[in-house]
Amino acid sequence: MGHREDPPEDCTRCAACCFSESLRHARVTGDDYERLGEEAESLVTWVVNEAFMRLAGSEGAQHCSALSLEPAAATLSCSIYERRPQVCRDLERAGGACHAERAAKAERPARALLTLTSRARSYR
Ligand code: SF4
Ligand code: SF4
Repeated sequence: MGHREDPPEDCTRCAACCFSESLRHARVTGDDYERLGEEAESLVTWVVNEAFMRLAGSEGAQHCSALSLEPAAATLSCSIYERRPQVCRDLERAGGACHAERAAKAERPARALLTLTSRARSYR
């Protein structure tokens, strides 16, 4: 069954749509690539001749490498928000795609934050 809760007012409390196990998660068009500027090459991965945002994180909770996770504040935010790809701009909070993303992946951000917290603890 889907996730029926309304999305939070603030996307930094969710970030479900920035999570994916697919290399083809967020398409980077030519315009998107230019907007990324000098960072483009490090943020992008190529699948044949198409560009996508590179993934980071551990298996089962992989996310876009531009996503910045703050375990202490329990927030997740896009570090390139002003320059993010068009596909990210088109995803409207509380729209159909947002609900679908949350239904599929709402638990992954919390899992990723927890992994970082427990890693930080083990380094003490
Ligand atoms: S899934 Fe919806 S609420 Fe969550 S970060 Fe994306 S747009 Fe925002
Ligand atoms: S570019 Fe930003 S908004 Fe788009 S998937 Fe990556 S972190 Fe999320």
